[in-house]
Amino acid sequence: MDIVFGIDIGGTDIKIGKFYGNELVYKTSIKTDKEDNGSKIFTQVFSIIDELKGEDNLIGIGIGVPGPVLNNAIVSSKNLGWDKVDVLQIVKEKYPNVAIKILNDANAAALGEMVKGGAKGYNNFIFITLGTGIGGGIVINGEVVEGNTGSAGEIGHIRVGFNNERLCKCGLYDCVEQYSSATGIVKTANNLRIGRKTKLNEIEVTAKNVFDLAKIGDEVALEAVNNFIEKLATALAAVTNTINPEVIVVGGGVSKAGDFLIERLEKRFNELCFFTVRGTKFALAKLGNDAGMYGTNYIVRKMINENKCL
Ligand code: ZN
Repeated sequence: MDIVFGIDIGGTDIKIGKFYGNELVYKTSIKTDKEDNGSKIFTQVFSIIDELKGEDNLIGIGIGVPGPVLNNAIVSSKNLGWDKVDVLQIVKEKYPNVAIKILNDANAAALGEMVKGGAKGYNNFIFITLGTGIGGGIVINGEVVEGNTGSAGEIGHIRVGFNNERLCKCGLYDCVEQYSSATGIVKTANNLRIGRKTKLNEIEVTAKNVFDLAKIGDEVALEAVNNFIEKLATALAAVTNTINPEVIVVGGGVSKAGDFLIERLEKRFNELCFFTVRGTKFALAKLGNDAGMYGTNYIVRKMINENKCL
């Protein structure tokens, strides 16, 4: 049987899926070994591929990485300790006769959601993950937009404030990631709760707790949520005005706040976007942590079918 491995290398875990066609037949996850500037990651990945391959015929490997991918090959990732690592070359040396595709993890997840998740049936959409940070992917006519330096879709670093309040790890101030991520809303809630009457002063301030308290009417928590929504709706309106997608798919841990989040986001978005894109649909992502594996499998198989193997 011809198989492809869809792999998602994250700062915490490496997820590896074995696919027959578009069917995920086996998946496993290991802790990322970031020692020695992440040089052990390849040994980890290769040993699992060799173990899971069995008697099957390996035809492709797709790898999602947390960083921009230059020329389909070179990856710099602060999360992994990689500085201009030629991932394509390293994987190709080990598996010379196999189709290989390296892409940004959020872009991979966007494609996964198109194959099987919240963007199924759509060819033009924005995908956004709200987790510790904000990741984004843009798909136009069924193709993920990678950009000149592999950096398209970095929605998390759109500037949404002008007072230089919060320094982002990218070096700029007031990126939307600093407000509308799990860490962002915790920061906002911690600022707002001081000297106020709120349950936030009695329990641990986490993104989930802030949303849960907002749902039951805690005013300070609701203020924190509104700030989160304001910044996110601003960034999404900017991207939507630019590319006019069919749907905006929202994933990541914070998206577990569900309809409470989506309804408020959609309402504010419609007030901020250009009138011709008003009414753009919103949907929740469905694949969770599996999205990246589905997306990398999809794009490698597409490459093979189109004979565009690297
Ligand atoms: Zn930033």
